[in-house]
Amino acid sequence: MSKVLVLLHSEQDGSLAKSGLEAVGAAKSLAEGLGGSLVVGVFGGEIASAANAVAGCGAEKILGVAGADFAASRYATDAAAAEAIAKAAGADYIVAPGTMRMNRVLAGVAYRLGGRVDSHVTGLAVEGGAPVVNRWYYRQRMMGRVQRDVRPWVIAIDPGAFAPLTGTEGTASIENVAVALADGSKRTSVEGIVAPAADAQTIRPDADLLFVAGAGWTKKQADGQSHVKEAEETILGFVKGAGASLGSSKSLVDQSGEGEAVLSFLTHLNQVGQTGATPRHPKGLASCCHGEEPHAVGWRFITERRAINLDANCGWAQGKADVLYVADAFAVMKKVNELLTS
Ligand SMILES: Cc1cc2nc3c(=O)[nH]c(=O)nc-3n(C[C@H](O)[C@H](O)[C@H](O)COP(=O)(O)OP(=O)(O)OC[C@H]3O[C@@H](n4cnc5c(N)ncnc54)[C@H](O)[C@@H]3O)c2cc1C
Repeated sequence: MSKVLVLLHSEQDGSLAKSGLEAVGAAKSLAEGLGGSLVVGVFGGEIASAANAVAGCGAEKILGVAGADFAASRYATDAAAAEAIAKAAGADYIVAPGTMRMNRVLAGVAYRLGGRVDSHVTGLAVEGGAPVVNRWYYRQRMMGRVQRDVRPWVIAIDPGAFAPLTGTEGTASIENVAVALADGSKRTSVEGIVAPAADAQTIRPDADLLFVAGAGWTKKQADGQSHVKEAEETILGFVKGAGASLGSSKSLVDQSGEGEAVLSFLTHLNQVGQTGATPRHPKGLASCCHGEEPHAVGWRFITERRAINLDANCGWAQGKADVLYVADAFAVMKKVNELLTS
């Protein structure tokens, strides 16, 4: 009988992130599809609440590695914990969330186990009694279907690609797995984490809404003037008020290199499209963006799409948006911000 291990790490506060619940959902349906069993494995500083979050997921056991040595993301200790859990589980398939912390160690762990690894998996099914994974290649232009004979097969799933398993909270009984740490494994010490303040961080992969700003925000408006300062306040006000993630067209982020007026908080990391990102959000709202194909192709995984543009014949009107508001984005977004703060 096949055994599926879902390998998780807890967050700094001991909780389990949404991406972890997605991995549990994917692993559970894989185990069911194979008629096999499910084992949960968690490592981290504190793991009790993470394990409790999935206590009722139907796993035959929950394995854990906890303690101060495993609190921070560090290759040597994370890889040792993951390897120990995987060996204790003896699984044929290891499903893990493709978080930054997990992606750093999974290839090394697969090597130590004599297995194979696939990352950025966006689909997982069972066909003819064997798993098949889907992953994109060449910037989301080609979809590959992969099957492997080597076991264990480590499968890192892309956050946002699977539905999170919910309603599984309970009190977990954790089987502790001993990890023998080699002398040098604690050489790297994590002194702290430097991150932008939550409201300065505009790229939020878990947000329900992607708000895209296009070059129109910096162009001359009906009064013959550009209103960059007002555009900045309006965009940031909305992104903050709605908890949205901020995307941009290429034209807008390229402007800084061309010496034009720019929105100071945008970088190329915000760029969505053929040569940018392909984010996943349930909804998207484009503003002052023309909706040309090289941009709109980055909306592949945005389920419900809306746009605001002065031009009724813009690209969004050519079947790329579900709803196009033919209107002035300055006026619309100012009103929306008023409603958000009232
Ligand atoms: C090889 C290649 C790769 C590319 N990759 C990408 C990519 O990854 N991502 C990307 O975005 N682009 C990409 N592009 C560029 C893309 O083709 C477009 O040039 C770009 O997306 C246009 O950006 P924009 O819509 O913001 O600007 P513009 O085309 O200048 O459009 C501005 C829009 O704002 C509207 N507007 C102005 N004022 C207002 C207002 N007050 N209210 C409402 N609407 C208003 C105008 O009507 C206009 O439609 C690529 C191009 C090539 C050739």
